[in-house]
Amino acid sequence: MSHGQKHYPNLFSPLDLGFTQLKNRALMGSMHTMLEEAHDGFNKLAAYFVERAKGGVGMIMTGGIAPNTEGSPFSGSAMMRNSNDVENHKIITEAVHQAAPDCKICMQILHNGRYAYHPDGVAPSAIKARISPFAPREMSTDDIERTLNEFAQCAALAKEAGYDGIEIIGSAGYLISEFLLEMTNQRTDEWGGSYENRMRFPVEIVKRIRAAVGSDFIVVYRIATMELLPEGSSWEEVVQLGKAIEQAGATIISTHFTWHEARVPTLATMVPRAAFTQVTGKLRKELSIPLITSNRINMPDVAEQVLADGDADIVSMARPMLADPELILKADQGREDEINTCIACNQACMDHAFSGQLVSCLVNPRACHETELNYLPTESAKRVAVVGAGPAGLAYATIAAQRGHNVTLYESSDRIGGQFNIAKRIPGKEEFTETLRYYAKQLELTGVTVKLKHKATQEELISESFDKIILATGIKPRTPDIDGIDHPKVISYLDALQDKKTVGKKVAIIGAGGIGFDAAEYLSHAGVSSGLSKEVFAKEWGIDFENHPRGGVAGIEPTVETNDREIQLLQRKTTAVGKTLGRTTGWTHRIMLQRRNVKMINGCDYRKIDDAGLHVTINGEERVLDVDSIVICAGQQPFRELYEGLQNQTCDVELVGGADVASELDAKRAIDQASKLAAVL
Ligand code: FAD
Ligand code: NAP
Ligand code: SF4
Repeated sequence: MSHGQKHYPNLFSPLDLGFTQLKNRALMGSMHTMLEEAHDGFNKLAAYFVERAKGGVGMIMTGGIAPNTEGSPFSGSAMMRNSNDVENHKIITEAVHQAAPDCKICMQILHNGRYAYHPDGVAPSAIKARISPFAPREMSTDDIERTLNEFAQCAALAKEAGYDGIEIIGSAGYLISEFLLEMTNQRTDEWGGSYENRMRFPVEIVKRIRAAVGSDFIVVYRIATMELLPEGSSWEEVVQLGKAIEQAGATIISTHFTWHEARVPTLATMVPRAAFTQVTGKLRKELSIPLITSNRINMPDVAEQVLADGDADIVSMARPMLADPELILKADQGREDEINTCIACNQACMDHAFSGQLVSCLVNPRACHETELNYLPTESAKRVAVVGAGPAGLAYATIAAQRGHNVTLYESSDRIGGQFNIAKRIPGKEEFTETLRYYAKQLELTGVTVKLKHKATQEELISESFDKIILATGIKPRTPDIDGIDHPKVISYLDALQDKKTVGKKVAIIGAGGIGFDAAEYLSHAGVSSGLSKEVFAKEWGIDFENHPRGGVAGIEPTVETNDREIQLLQRKTTAVGKTLGRTTGWTHRIMLQRRNVKMINGCDYRKIDDAGLHVTINGEERVLDVDSIVICAGQQPFRELYEGLQNQTCDVELVGGADVASELDAKRAIDQASKLAAVL
């Protein structure tokens, strides 16, 4: 019996589907990576999926592939429509089946409906989505008939291409789910009106697909159990649809919990682990086919608990498979402390996908670059000093050492992690601790000599005659040039966030970038972090998991605990405050701070600081903000005091991370740059 079977008996138990078997209960969930449309994309996708298949998952779901042009997400995106597409997809299926014959791979069929980012989108009714610039065309009955057949044809071609099954995405606000809600379906023919009529389209799709692919092919239907919209489905409708889908011939039902246009986060790091699985558990009691659950299941013990609780038959992990392709293998071999955990930051995956960039992963820049970025053994080992154990230094040191170089890592503080040690203190960013645990283990495994509480000096680095010196010394906070900046009311974000100085009741925060927002979150927070409690999360975002009103949220007012601080978050720019935050997470931070009564003010000109407070001109009007504390979050500058001296001594010295460029630095760029440099040392 393997470690996995002993410690995660549910996760590592096979699932019999009648005509075939899944070797375990772990699914790699569907993600559109943009490799689908990239040059040589199918070979790159094959390499990407092969790593995950070898990494132990029982089943893989590809990113969404459109059944026709009007259903594609954007012009020129991937479709499955003809023999050429079949040949391309065979590159993936053959590679995966050869590398891991016991891993299933299914293709997701995605018709974008009114979310299509092009002018040819269609929908049950011509109603534009809030989040889309394009109004869809209303489908005629002929369009509907044709589309149903195109779904069936797409599934049949997927079978021909060697897939073990398909997934129909009937949720998230895409075409199929648009038929279900009155909000998006105002038709008066047999496809609109009563719920029976509105659910006819999804049920018919499943029937036609089953007829086209025969009985020995996996058909997964992804159902919207909650739209997180007040106009969403009632629980009775969800159950009615689930039963009809089962009856129509689906093998498995996968549960989904939101529409993209909902104003409730379901993936961000402030969402607690496995927050939504109880909804799947509720539906599982009503149906007899297996159910898949998902969302913020990022470690094997979380997956095991969900299965042990009876909430699902299969757990889907999508982003966690970007972060670590070997997650399941490591769980099976008892190497859990080696798992590179998805911290749910969305910075390199969802933010990239929604801005048309190639998807990757903040903690694993190899994700979707498997054919280009490899950490191969070195043929000439070098003696390397890495100065600074923040994300950049950690990534560089561990990759260089893994490749066979002899690495010494210097860190002046008493712990590794650099600014991540401050980030992890922010409520909702608890997951950042996992990255530090991962790197601590990697340092041990790769044999890096770690010198903590050791401020590296120029003399020492020179005397050690290193072949290469990497300066990953990070940043120093920018001190803005404001009259009175030395006033005792002024506190640096480093001191405020580490409780090194007391922050008063009335606070002005100068700078509304990522750190300004985090400081406002930290200083306005009260009670337990939503990231650690499903109850708090449900209250803060107005979700009723117990009674399940329409969409899971109808009639529920969000309630947020707050302390008695009065906070003003300021910036000089006249653009909306928070515009520079992550594309798929920025709105959650803005909403949460608004609910905690944090005032966000743009267009500020800071004039001076004195006992009266902060003197500002806001849109031409002079004001004095009567505050006790002024927290400075005005960006950063590179900290590289060793650089010039070492260069003068003709050492081979290189800068990475914040020490290189501090402007717009984040951990994504720090780790990416360090990994790429360490790969070619
Ligand atoms: P640092 O993390 O600053 O590390 C530099 C290290 O060098 C430090 O540990 C320092 O002690 C050490 N050092 C300096 N000089 C010497 C010396 N002479 N000898 C030995 N050691 C030395 N980024 C994101 O991508 N997403 C987020 O959500 C996010 N949230 C954040 C929240 C907060 C509150 C903060 C403060 C930062 C956040 N960041 C976030 C930014 C992210 O942490 C930084 O971009 C990242 O840490 C930069 O990495 P680095 O390795 O370049 O520098
Ligand atoms: P930042 O995003 O560059 O924001 C700096 C802020 O300070 C801006 O609001 C800027 O706005 C203001 N500012 C700049 N120069 C100033 C000056 N001289 N005087 C007064 N105000 C000034 O930097 P940060 O907030 O320090 O964050 C550092 C990095 O960490 C960011 O790049 C970010 O990506 C990363 N981070 C990310 C997250 C996340 O959730 N993804 C969270 C935290 C941090 P004005 O110029 O308009 O005043
Ligand atoms: Fe997870 Fe962040 Fe990586 Fe996306 S970028 S997979 S959210 S760690």
